[in-house]
Amino acid sequence: MKIAIRMDDISPQMDHVKWERAERILMERGIAPLLGVVPDNRDSNLNREDKPEEEVFWTFIRECQEKGYVLALHGCHHVYDTDQGGMFPLNTFSEFAGHSYEKQLERLSHGKEILEKHGIRTELFMAPAHSYDKNTLKALKRIGITKLTDGFGTRPYEYCGMTFYPIAHHLEKQWDKPGYTTLVLHTNTMEEKDFERLERIVSRREVISYSEYLQAEPQKAGVGHRLWEYWMATAKRVLVQIRSGRSR
Ligand SMILES: [Zn+2]
Repeated sequence: MKIAIRMDDISPQMDHVKWERAERILMERGIAPLLGVVPDNRDSNLNREDKPEEEVFWTFIRECQEKGYVLALHGCHHVYDTDQGGMFPLNTFSEFAGHSYEKQLERLSHGKEILEKHGIRTELFMAPAHSYDKNTLKALKRIGITKLTDGFGTRPYEYCGMTFYPIAHHLEKQWDKPGYTTLVLHTNTMEEKDFERLERIVSRREVISYSEYLQAEPQKAGVGHRLWEYWMATAKRVLVQIRSGRSR
């Protein structure tokens, strides 16, 4: 399986030291990831450092763009204010799912405008907490974004006029299959063992740049695939809840 990399929660006060360490592992092998940029972060959970000058952050993002990294709109404020999991319920909270179309359109337009104002081109949407619903898809199409990094499967697929680029649900169990997937990295919370795992994956497996993943031909997905994906996401969420209950 070819593995593309996405890095979530790119925001001004993220842990830049950890991010740079993960980036170095990728850069050494010429791998360009997808970055999920939060346009106007108001989620204090993402803040690990002091606030930099605004222009410092946007210059850093533009440099990533120049290096060939693909940039995704990662919500608007990254604040969860509904208790909905939407159409891919890995979580039961959202910045979008459950809100009206108008409200979602307003947030998405605002986020996209901020990125554009700073010279950032967005090709994809990365839903905070993976949660989105029909109105999110409708609003995304309205602002000209038709690609999403989410879903399960072994290839990009088309559904509802959007192209979905699936993410891994259990990478080590999937990677002997043919096709493509995405390794999701939250560098803010990466520990030593996570960096070691990343090193292992990029040195032993076929890891590709995200732009190569975007060139893979999408397949049409039916309702059957979406139902399977919905139940897979639900099962994964429940398993995570059980495990975290045990380790508490
Ligand atoms: Zn996030």
